[in-house]
Amino acid sequence: VRASAVRDGDGWRLTGTKIWTSHAHRAHYLVALCRTSPASEEDRRSGLSQFIVDLRAPGVTVNPVRLLDGEHHFNEVVLDDVAVPASMVLGRIGAGWEQVTAELVYERSGPERFLSVFPLLRELVRSAQDNHDVRALSALGRLTAELITLRQLSVRIAAALDRGESPAVAAALVKDLGTRFENEVIDVGRVVAGVEPSLGSADPLARTLAEAVLHSPGFTLRGGTNEILRGIAARGLGLR
Ligand SMILES: Cc1cc2nc3c(=O)[nH]c(=O)nc-3n(C[C@H](O)[C@H](O)[C@H](O)COP(=O)(O)OP(=O)(O)OC[C@H]3O[C@@H](n4cnc5c(N)ncnc54)[C@H](O)[C@@H]3O)c2cc1C
Repeated sequence: VRASAVRDGDGWRLTGTKIWTSHAHRAHYLVALCRTSPASEEDRRSGLSQFIVDLRAPGVTVNPVRLLDGEHHFNEVVLDDVAVPASMVLGRIGAGWEQVTAELVYERSGPERFLSVFPLLRELVRSAQDNHDVRALSALGRLTAELITLRQLSVRIAAALDRGESPAVAAALVKDLGTRFENEVIDVGRVVAGVEPSLGSADPLARTLAEAVLHSPGFTLRGGTNEILRGIAARGLGLR
């Protein structure tokens, strides 16, 4: 983390760049993780803090980054000596790493980590039922069973969060399994759909297939890549 926050009177001044910030062009505020003191040799995670930044403040620039289908989803946010009052420190100065990893449990275990392709799955089931396509229905039945299992895992993690726990390893596994499931829905969809993916199509199956294919490269990246998640799981199992 190279973005920095330095004390300025009662408040702070933030400078740094963050790429891939979803919906920063729509949001009024973002949460920034910044270095507030140098990392120590033995612990790179110390000296980090979180701030709530008003995106309308002087020194903030939000540059669009377009997705493959041209959609404006995420951005590059540049902070150039942005003044942030002390009241906008999130949590504790120096506790940024513990806070951000706890927050990531929500992002990694939530339903948006396995439901990105739900519109496609629904269209595939509808089409297979209309066409009495037994082979497709059997493949889709297996995927639906996986989806229900993922939902149960996600709900169990939500319950653990409610109890005040921070199940980081379980959340990492839900995201790893969930995003692999999403890609599997697309793979099965391409085989059984019987239509070419087409963004401009009036056919919802062709359209949702095209949307899923074009968004799929980000599934296993956002919220932490699968390699990073497996590293977290390995550490949780005492293997690293
Ligand atoms: C659709 C989308 C939306 C996003 N929205 C947001 C957002 O709203 N806010 C936000 O802050 N970020 C957001 N991101 C950013 C996302 O969290 C990062 O892109 C992601 O965590 C990967 O980090 P990176 O891009 O720095 O890749 P890198 O860390 O540079 O990784 C590059 C490659 O190297 C591999 N790699 C890196 N380190 C290791 C390691 N130690 N061991 C093994 N392999 C490794 C990775 O797995 C990956 O394949 C979004 C990304 C996407 C795609």
